[in-house]
Amino acid sequence: MKRWLCETCGRGVNAPERMRTNDSRRYCLTCSAKSPTLVERICPAAKTRRKRKQGRRTAKAAAAKSHRVEKAVASKGQLAELPWHQRDDLIRAEFRRLVRLPIWRERVARYKPRLKIRRSSTRWHDSGRAKWSGEIVTTFGTGADRARICELLTHEICHYATDGGRGGRFHGDKFRGLLVDAVRVAYGATLDADEEIPRRAYSLDTVLECAIRKTLTEGETR
Ligand SMILES: [Zn+2]
Ligand SMILES: [Zn+2]
Repeated sequence: MKRWLCETCGRGVNAPERMRTNDSRRYCLTCSAKSPTLVERICPAAKTRRKRKQGRRTAKAAAAKSHRVEKAVASKGQLAELPWHQRDDLIRAEFRRLVRLPIWRERVARYKPRLKIRRSSTRWHDSGRAKWSGEIVTTFGTGADRARICELLTHEICHYATDGGRGGRFHGDKFRGLLVDAVRVAYGATLDADEEIPRRAYSLDTVLECAIRKTLTEGETR
């Protein structure tokens, strides 16, 4: 049994804490008779208990929230430890940075290419393709490191800039010149004299990749 009090007249009755909503003991009939609406009695004990319970609930919710935040921070930490080829956020940010370089032709600035990232379960399979639609599809193998990925992104944007994804003269002089310039501008890579740069595109890629890797590691130790 709990004490139920009328806040208007101060008189009370003993009644259970839980009652049906239409139980007459919930209402002060004396005061209700003088009022256009029913005057309810309150149960102070139940009120304090409810308040205490609510306080516990709030504390519990706060604890759960801080736990969630901690967990998110922890997983972000783990995310940062992932290898580059698994960090889509970094790859996309790098792609956006490269697209903004002032060296591309107008087409790249006006019809910004979009990046699609695919993954290969093979260690050394990396490839890319620039499509006429503006979509650049890249596939990274599990062995692709940051320098490899950066070079591939630059290579594909270069295709888009030179042949617009039409696959014209794939790795001609125009393409090679622009790719070398892009790597210079984007990574501050110091390359050997142009004549030393191999004629074949695939060995050119390797040279540029090494140049990028060198500047990236230098940047890290600095
Ligand atoms: Zn009353
Ligand atoms: Zn190519």
